[in-house]
Amino acid sequence: MSDFEGLSALVTGGASGIGRATAELLAARGARVAVLDLDPASASVGKPLLAYRADVSDDTSVREAVAAAVADLGGLDALINNAGIGAQGTVEDNDDDEWHRVLDVNVVGMVRTARAALPHLRRSRHAAIVNTCSIAATAGLPQRALYSATKGAVYSLTLAMAADHVREGIRVNCVNPGTADTPWIGRLLSKAPDPAAERAALEARQPTGRLVSAAEVAGAIAYLASPLSGATTGTALAVDGGMQGL
Ligand code: NAD
Repeated sequence: MSDFEGLSALVTGGASGIGRATAELLAARGARVAVLDLDPASASVGKPLLAYRADVSDDTSVREAVAAAVADLGGLDALINNAGIGAQGTVEDNDDDEWHRVLDVNVVGMVRTARAALPHLRRSRHAAIVNTCSIAATAGLPQRALYSATKGAVYSLTLAMAADHVREGIRVNCVNPGTADTPWIGRLLSKAPDPAAERAALEARQPTGRLVSAAEVAGAIAYLASPLSGATTGTALAVDGGMQGL
């Protein structure tokens, strides 16, 4: 029997990129999976996935979607807090509204889904929360002040939640991807004067000479979401092709 069979998982931002790869991996390994996304339609086409529309920056939307998904899944074992948006620039480039908007999605969005999911996770024998953080949390990346601050908060939130819920049997961990080849990166590259040259330069900056794949991040998330990692909580698992260690 697979370590994922019988598990029920909820993946926010599961219609694209890392979230989509995670939902598909978990479903392929036998988990029941529900995707929550602003645009869930693309996640459900031809896949054995349940999909719900939700905006993680709207508490009512999150509570309703989590309740509907858990009812359809028949319970909840794993919450994958993955939905996130980017922001570029220094502290002089983003105004207060932009700071509030990105913090609201990337940080408070994870708090909202956790609040809605925790009562259900308490009934699971293998409860886990996995937050998608980033190397930006600790790397000191240029031109990423706001984005890095949100991911730093996600990292601290992960540690605090792990401490708060460990005695309830709920594990909380995060993954720290490096540059992962997802539609997000595709959108960023498409804004460059020469996208192909920009991609080549980005790849050359990676110790491995290539970007991390969404499937590789999904593998780490699936591990942390399953009983395979049953004694692991309050950790950040880097999936960065050696970017931070080298
Ligand atoms: P993506 O843009 O391909 O996918 C993000 C998904 O989140 C989309 O389906 C989008 O609709 C959804 N989403 C955005 N805002 C939402 C909201 N308010 N409510 C619900 N859903 C919402 O991006 P990705 O690269 O797969 O990124 C996923 C996560 O990984 C993000 O948290 C991102 O910060 C993190 N991450 C990405 C990289 C990378 O290089 N791609 C690196 C480190 C961390």
